[in-house]
Amino acid sequence: MRKPMIAGNWKLHKTLDEACGLVSEIIPAVASNQDVEIVVAPVFTALSKVAEILSGSNIKLAAQNCYPEPQGAFTGEVSPLFLKDVGCHYVIIGHSERRQIFGETNDFINAKARALADAGLGTIFCIGETLEERESDQMFDVLRHQVRLGLKNLSTEQMSNVVIAYEPIWAIGTGVTASDEQAQEAHAFIRALVKELYNPKVADATRILYGGSVKPGNVDGLMTQPDVDGALVGGASLKAADFARIVNFEKV
Ligand code: PEP
Repeated sequence: MRKPMIAGNWKLHKTLDEACGLVSEIIPAVASNQDVEIVVAPVFTALSKVAEILSGSNIKLAAQNCYPEPQGAFTGEVSPLFLKDVGCHYVIIGHSERRQIFGETNDFINAKARALADAGLGTIFCIGETLEERESDQMFDVLRHQVRLGLKNLSTEQMSNVVIAYEPIWAIGTGVTASDEQAQEAHAFIRALVKELYNPKVADATRILYGGSVKPGNVDGLMTQPDVDGALVGGASLKAADFARIVNFEKV
């Protein structure tokens, strides 16, 4: 049985005070929900303080990025070791904004995945196709390539700490969501791929989140799909009431 996960990616939003305010509003709104693994990912500068506020709550902390080397002469970078140190449980890697704006390659993302596995941190590993790739029938090839390279050399045991987030790029921050059927089709494909690369047990246990304009109004239909195990939420995670409604989704 896969426990659903709802994770909020705050991106480059919320100053320290705002982040503390937001998380303080979210905590009571989701406190009674023990059925969902709830995660928030603030900016680096808010992690330590938000970790203090989250202490004793049912919400886990994530970072939005990491560097694969543990420490050294890497000016401006933050590694899994340091993220664990401030109380992170998860780190998001492979987000399309990092791939597109910062030119991150599948190999670099794989180095991060391996570093996170070595550090014993959970990984939220994002993949997804552009509209052009979808419309030219390359979607499955793109997803296969991203999964194969991104998870290369991760052992069966290490896969238990990996959550995959399918985020079609055309749906991120656009207000356009994949239909329930489009999400299910992609998720079923990704699960079959994990089965092929690992085994049926790993495929059955791996959670696959959907990301891309998830809102209170569309989460219930998405979460009713058999292979959709949760959501990675951008914009709607910045409003406590919306995020709480998404966390407290109802299957239809
Ligand atoms: C995201 O950035 O991971 C995301 C899914 O954003 P949004 O929900 O705003 O589309």
